[in-house]
Amino acid sequence: MESVAASLLAPQTPVLVVSTGMWGNRWRDICVKLGLPVHVHTSEPGYPPDPGEIDQLLGAEQHQALLITHVDSSSGVRARIDDLAQVAKEHGALVLVDGVSAAGAESVHQETWGVDAYLTSTPKALGVPAGLYLASLGPRAVDVLASRVWTPRHFSLDLRDWLPVMRAALEARFVYHQTLPGNLIGALTQGLELVVQEGTERVHRHRRLALRLRSALETEGLRNFVAADGDRANGVSVYRAPPHLTAGELLRGAAELGVLLQAGTHPSAAGETFRIGHLGNVDEQDIERTVGVLRRLLSPPNR
Ligand SMILES: *Cc1c(COP(=O)(O)O)cnc(C)c1O
Repeated sequence: MESVAASLLAPQTPVLVVSTGMWGNRWRDICVKLGLPVHVHTSEPGYPPDPGEIDQLLGAEQHQALLITHVDSSSGVRARIDDLAQVAKEHGALVLVDGVSAAGAESVHQETWGVDAYLTSTPKALGVPAGLYLASLGPRAVDVLASRVWTPRHFSLDLRDWLPVMRAALEARFVYHQTLPGNLIGALTQGLELVVQEGTERVHRHRRLALRLRSALETEGLRNFVAADGDRANGVSVYRAPPHLTAGELLRGAAELGVLLQAGTHPSAAGETFRIGHLGNVDEQDIERTVGVLRRLLSPPNR
């Protein structure tokens, strides 16, 4: 995220961050450290950003970039990138998207949506060990890099120095900039082969598993943090803790039964929520097992 921002946003460029949880706040913190004037629009917890409001904000001030989180794993909200990017384009703003919990589990149409930079990292829906990130730059972002007259203050974060490496790779030639971790590149290659083999079924699988999980948990009376079904991510679900158990008790209980769930991380509701990751190489059995364990923990002892 920092590398994309540091490479594409000139010092003093005013930017608009649209936050649906802790990862939007991460965009904000990165911009602040880069010294960029940043305006943050925070969505109501559990709701996606409203393109109409973003349109007004972009119209009111000269923001030159819109920074969005596709799926914020702290809220489980999926933002409507197509509509937001459309609005940003109308104002001439660059569109930078954090797709870390989305790519591999959601439909991503970078070109048709007009997203200038879409980034992701390996350990979420790609199901590959952590340590690498991928940034996909559209033509406008590449132009910004190539024609940039200012110099970022960072050496290793600057994507411009990778352009010759990428261009050479397209011609099966090797150009050196920095040594890559070969072990991780090997893992990424394997992981991406699985993604390509599965094709668009991968998105359908994530959606199917999410719906199965949610219908089972709603039957148990759990409340999803995201208000509308259409705004819920395919790869992560955030739930409010039930009245008779704290989120911590639920997580400890599940761990004792062999299912690892995660604590809540949404800035407004961390302690009252817990999270279920169902992204990457997750299957029906994982969902059934998780549902079974939660059912056991949620049912009164005498049932
Ligand atoms: C997990 C996550 C990140 C951070 O990715 P790491 O690989 O853990 O550094 C950033 N953005 C979003 C939306 C995430 O879910």
